[in-house]
Amino acid sequence: MPRAATIACLDLEGVLIPEVWVGLAERSGVDELRLTTRDIPDYDELMTRRLGILAERGIGMPDLEAVITELDPLPGAAEFLDWLRERMQVVILSDTFYSFARPFMRKLGWPTLFCHNLGVSDEGRIESYHLRQADPKRKAVQAFHGLNFQVIATGDSYNDTTMLSEADAGILFRPPNNVVEEFPQFPVTHDYDALRREFEKALASLDDA
Ligand SMILES: [Mg+2]
Repeated sequence: MPRAATIACLDLEGVLIPEVWVGLAERSGVDELRLTTRDIPDYDELMTRRLGILAERGIGMPDLEAVITELDPLPGAAEFLDWLRERMQVVILSDTFYSFARPFMRKLGWPTLFCHNLGVSDEGRIESYHLRQADPKRKAVQAFHGLNFQVIATGDSYNDTTMLSEADAGILFRPPNNVVEEFPQFPVTHDYDALRREFEKALASLDDA
């Protein structure tokens, strides 16, 4: 199978950029915003908590944007992404929101991103969030299979495991120990060189299949 028929599906936060909400917590001093899908796997529950905290504190979209613009992709992420895009198609599958991701996408050269939307009032108040669909990462992989692509997926967290399972090859990047223990079938990488090697291995095994 030629490599042109392979798509890489990458998680965003924890793989290419830092956890945005953790960055927001650090810079705003609101410690409760640290909670991530690592702490509360139910994303709906997690987002309801987060929006409640923002509303209580009067933190709006302009405040968040100012903080996010100061955050950078993880060191080496842009180079890794360039390396990967020379070799196959790349789509980023994320549970973040377009307005949060925009400053990072600019720094990464505007890769393709499938994520969600926030409902923001004219005054900048975040009023709602709109998840495009349930289990979107798995559904994207299923859709790419329907288009006759092979998929190699990488993620760091619980919310990536359905995507990794659905893909032809799944690779964990800097996962927490509980994910490693629960999903021993996926190779674990901790830096971009190791991730490059796992992509090469996965490609070779798919080529042989
Ligand atoms: Mg992640």
